[in-house]
Parts: sequence; structure tokens; C-alpha cells
Amino acid sequence: MSQSKSSTKTVVVCQSCESVFVSEVKPDGTIRPIGVSADCTCGDGDFRRISGTADLE
Ligand SMILES: [Zn+2]
Repeated sequence: MSQSKSSTKTVVVCQSCESVFVSEVKPDGTIRPIGVSADCTCGDGDFRRISGTADLE
């Protein structure tokens, strides 16, 4: 419910291994997946926001 002013959350998918993660989106647009390394478990870390998915609260 309480949404941070400094960041939002969204869902992203790794373009390399297709793993899906909930991620934090920084005000500057940087995507930082939660619960996984910034480089993903596959070591690539090319995350893309899933289009059509609303930001999570
Ligand atoms: Zn990956």
C-alpha cells in the first residue's frame, strides 16, 4: 500500500533466460531485480519490463 517516493516496483523478464522477477525501478529508470543478483542467475542481467504490466503497489 505504502509506495515509496523514490522508487516503484514492476515485473521484468530476463531476455537471456526468461526468468521473471519483481523489480525495483529507480527514479532514473534503472531496473534492480529484487531477490536476485543484478546480473541475474544466468549472469546476463538484460532485464526488460513486461509490457502491459502495471506498476505494482
Ligand atoms: Zn537471466
